[in-house]
Amino acid sequence: MATDSSTLIGKSVRELRALLTSGSVSAREILQDHIQHIERFDPELGAFNCLTTHLAYEQAEKIDALVKKREPLPALAGVPVAIKDNICVPGYPATCSSKILQNFVPPYSATVIERLGASGAIIIGKTNMDEFAMGSSTENSAFAPTHNPWNVKKVPGGSSGGSTVAVAAGFSTLSLGSDTGGSIRQPASFCGVVGMKPTYGVVSRFGLIAFASSLDQIGPLGREVEDVATCLQVISGHDKRDSTSLPFCLPTQSETLASGVKSMRIGIISELSGQGIDDDVRCSLKQAGETLQSLGAVVDEVSLPNSKHALSVYYLIATAEASANLSRYDGVKFGLRNQEADDILSMYFSSRSDGFGAEVKRRIMLGTYALSSGYYDAYYKKAQQVRRLIKQDFDRAFSQFDLLICPTSPTVAFELGAKTADPLQMYLSDIATIPANLAGIPGISIPCGFSQQRLPIGLQLLGPALADSKLLAAAYAFEKATQFHTVTAPVLTASAKH
Ligand code: GLN
Repeated sequence: MATDSSTLIGKSVRELRALLTSGSVSAREILQDHIQHIERFDPELGAFNCLTTHLAYEQAEKIDALVKKREPLPALAGVPVAIKDNICVPGYPATCSSKILQNFVPPYSATVIERLGASGAIIIGKTNMDEFAMGSSTENSAFAPTHNPWNVKKVPGGSSGGSTVAVAAGFSTLSLGSDTGGSIRQPASFCGVVGMKPTYGVVSRFGLIAFASSLDQIGPLGREVEDVATCLQVISGHDKRDSTSLPFCLPTQSETLASGVKSMRIGIISELSGQGIDDDVRCSLKQAGETLQSLGAVVDEVSLPNSKHALSVYYLIATAEASANLSRYDGVKFGLRNQEADDILSMYFSSRSDGFGAEVKRRIMLGTYALSSGYYDAYYKKAQQVRRLIKQDFDRAFSQFDLLICPTSPTVAFELGAKTADPLQMYLSDIATIPANLAGIPGISIPCGFSQQRLPIGLQLLGPALADSKLLAAAYAFEKATQFHTVTAPVLTASAKH
């Protein structure tokens, strides 16, 4: 255990690195403190599906051996990272929080996991999520919901709720989530942390269990922009095992992060900043615009007229792709199989009926319908055409502005159970995040305020494709100019109190 009373919980990548290099703590001690913190507080929050303790100690040992030999430490040496349960870590279940994959143990590693390993990160556990990443509250997990560390009666957002709570509660320094329509950014805003969806193709999807392949992207979550930037640097880059992986590298973040927002032109998206947005959220957005202006940016309004179609387009494209991707779960090759069925057809039917939850079934049915013969042109093809219009709106906006801003979510975290009976209300939670997935552009959510009930509010910044570094630089400048990220969920400091 760490010898001082402050514990090692809540430290940044930079701080952990300094402690390791000076020899004042070992990677093993960092890990032990985090595991103890998880054991104490996760029963109430439910961030983890399982811990990867054996792997974590193996990785920590390697780092301590490097320190002992005084060898240079890689970028994430000794840093605990939590992994969403739809990303394959060999030897541990990858359940997607679904009964159908409850016993699936992948024999191979996702590219991001290999890259984290090579950078010295400590994989600490697999995190809870909405089943197959379909949802906005982590209540669609087949196992149990995850709770918001700011107020356990509230949802943490989703679908990467477990990964988000892991960083917000101090269970890990960083985590990975996946974002198909907002699943990294929306929970980041609900839990007061930083979450980024990179440009589509910047991070390899190899080893990410597919939901909607043309939208899915893995991305980092952390408590500080610098940590998120370091993690993105580590996990990004071309991968020949993902055919949609882009053949470039991002510029080195440490060189670009401090470049600021001076003379940047920043557009506030009018359609996503007015009607339907909570007063508290609107007020924080206004202040955020003023802060960016005071830092030297030129802030003005911009219109994305087709963004009003984004939700409808998303629920056709995402469900269509999901229905195809999820057809592989038939009880034969993966996961759950009904043993009692008399013949193969009834085995398929009953395995899928028992294995999938209600929301996943709803999506499969919607998607299968949209793709069925006679309807394809009217739904899937039409949706792809409108998707193009949405992308063109962004192209037009980025010819006048460097970056765009809007709230990450129209509301702060809502009560558990508040939206489970009404899927449409749940879907509306992603109204501001979905357009970026449809256009393939990068987006980041950073803390920008608190509601009257003391719940975090997130600011979303969007940039043109491949402007990931510029986005991080603007987020970093905003973070340095404000104090919101320094106010943390009470559990983060709870281990330090005794
Ligand atoms: N909440 C959205 C959905 O339910 C987005 C999910 C995601 O990004 N994985 O589809």
